[in-house]
Amino acid sequence: MNEVKLAKSAGFCFGVKRAVDLVYEEAKKGGDIYTYGPIIHNEEVVGDLENKGVRVINSPEEIDNLKSGTIIIRSHGVSKDIYDRMINNGLNVIDATCPFVKKIHNIVSEESNKGNVIVIVGNKDHPEVQGINGWSNGETYIIDSKEEIDKITINNGKKVCVVAQTTFNFNKFKELVEILTKRVYDIIAVNTICNATKERQTEAKSLALESDAMIVIGGRHSSNTQKLYQICKSECDNTMYIQTLDDLVIDELTSVRSVGITAGASTPNNIIEEVWQACQKKILQNY
Ligand code: SF4
Repeated sequence: MNEVKLAKSAGFCFGVKRAVDLVYEEAKKGGDIYTYGPIIHNEEVVGDLENKGVRVINSPEEIDNLKSGTIIIRSHGVSKDIYDRMINNGLNVIDATCPFVKKIHNIVSEESNKGNVIVIVGNKDHPEVQGINGWSNGETYIIDSKEEIDKITINNGKKVCVVAQTTFNFNKFKELVEILTKRVYDIIAVNTICNATKERQTEAKSLALESDAMIVIGGRHSSNTQKLYQICKSECDNTMYIQTLDDLVIDELTSVRSVGITAGASTPNNIIEEVWQACQKKILQNY
């Protein structure tokens, strides 16, 4: 039977949907609206918001130049320093930090205030990790490999609190926590990895396994979409990575019977729907 299956977990997760909806709501009200960094890794959405008057601010210096208006913090969150800068400049701050990320800020802030050492397992260049780091008031390390652990020296009389970037791989987190546990006497590890990513990846993998062709939709710079692509590609050689329907070479689906579709966390529903409809039309013509 010819069919196109769309992953239930394709597209916006709860945190991203909430942030994007908040920006659109504010844009409707009018006035000077800014987001700190692009609200999501999707050029279409950012372009659409720009047309509605929403400007992207990229640096602390740019915040300092704003003396009025509304600024929206995206789901990745920001450091305390950036947050305070926005408030101190008199901006109306709308905090769309995902509650799962906010929870990590709170853990890091409370534990570091108790004098404990913070270890963040994640990518030090990722804005979410930089934001988390910015809520610690003491000794903090960011690691993402065994080699990084080897580089740090933790005073063994101190308690260590380990948290993870929400999108970090669970098995790798577990492995790194096990290594740390052998080296540090007093340690608490909080698994702060978000299930949305894992669920999307697990569903994509099983869909790719049963499909003749797999389509992954998402922005080129979106790391979660890149990861989805790798997972699908390893199960289905005929996997395509597209940003929008325009990138889809529909003739590539001429000799396939089943197509699976998934999408990264920053892909809006309308783009997924367009791709799904085009595939549906094509597949029904085959055979
Ligand atoms: S992936 Fe999870 S933590 Fe990140 S924004 Fe989405 S719901 Fe929040």
